[in-house]
Amino acid sequence: MINIALIGCTGSIGRQTLDIVRSHPERFRITALACGTDADSLSMLKKEFSPCIAHCAAEGEIPFGALFEDCDVAFIAAGGFAGLAYTMSAIEAGKRVLLANKESLVCGGELVMKAAKERGVEIVPVDSEHSAIFQALGFRREAGFEKLILTASGGPFLHYEKEALARVTAQEALAHPTWKMGKKVTVDSATLLNKGYEIIEAKWLYETDFEHIEAVVHPESIVHSLVSFADGAMIAQLGYPDMRLPIQLALTYPERLACTPQLDLARLGALHFLPLPKEKFPCFGLALAAGRAGGTAPTLLNGAAEEAVSAFLKGHITFSQIAETIGDVLGSIPREEAEDLSALKEADAAARRAARAFIYGK
Ligand code: MG
Repeated sequence: MINIALIGCTGSIGRQTLDIVRSHPERFRITALACGTDADSLSMLKKEFSPCIAHCAAEGEIPFGALFEDCDVAFIAAGGFAGLAYTMSAIEAGKRVLLANKESLVCGGELVMKAAKERGVEIVPVDSEHSAIFQALGFRREAGFEKLILTASGGPFLHYEKEALARVTAQEALAHPTWKMGKKVTVDSATLLNKGYEIIEAKWLYETDFEHIEAVVHPESIVHSLVSFADGAMIAQLGYPDMRLPIQLALTYPERLACTPQLDLARLGALHFLPLPKEKFPCFGLALAAGRAGGTAPTLLNGAAEEAVSAFLKGHITFSQIAETIGDVLGSIPREEAEDLSALKEADAAARRAARAFIYGK
């Protein structure tokens, strides 16, 4: 029996994780549930799963210690910068972290990996690309590789001209061609910010540098990522775009349980691979530049992006103004060392203030 503290239980990944728990009640038990704001859904889930503790962040101070007390693994599926504090607390509690929150590594990679090493805690990837790489490496992080190659669907605007991109609506940005995900990450996929984030995540998870990570467009989203080796061999993981597989595998690896249907190869048709159109999607380059700068730069990037995407979804700014907001914030606030979580929290707050000033002019 694996005891799970599920943080972010009412979001897209959280709900799919609960589906996995429902389908293997003999293997998994929920000991803690936490969500951001959806207290109504939380109280229903509380009745169904009878956790030792359930908490809604909007309703009061988060009891970090108690959340991770009874679990074997901490499944961090909370969205945004808020997920980082949970990840750090789970590591402090010495619990294995199953990480679906990208911002924990994008913003806090340095702190998270250092703390995990000190406490002997393993960080297991849930993001489909990073799970694919983990599988291609045979679950051996120390296995030597030449390059990590992340695939990107390219989002709904892959073939749009630059002028047409400026006019796209939130509704169009939310219509992802292959994956069903939460709103923030769906917009981030359309701007390619998400692929920049995933390169930063891969750098920390697999202890490599940016020169050994590539991204390539693969519109069918069947090959979830690849690893290349010194002799020219490439190993990939294939499957239908369905997050249940990487979620379940993070819980059980190296064991594999029944989960999703196998690919029907003969019916798949052609698979395509294209270069990433970086010049059309400036968010990708902004993310990489912030990742390379390190320190508080990725936190500034993310704080600005969270504000900009929220403004875009409300119709307050255009699609191209998402990148403009991020660029302005990165240009106006100097990068500092990421000494501890409170330094990152300050950078996050400063980035959000600057982004709102850029967007709303106050
Ligand atoms: Mg992904």
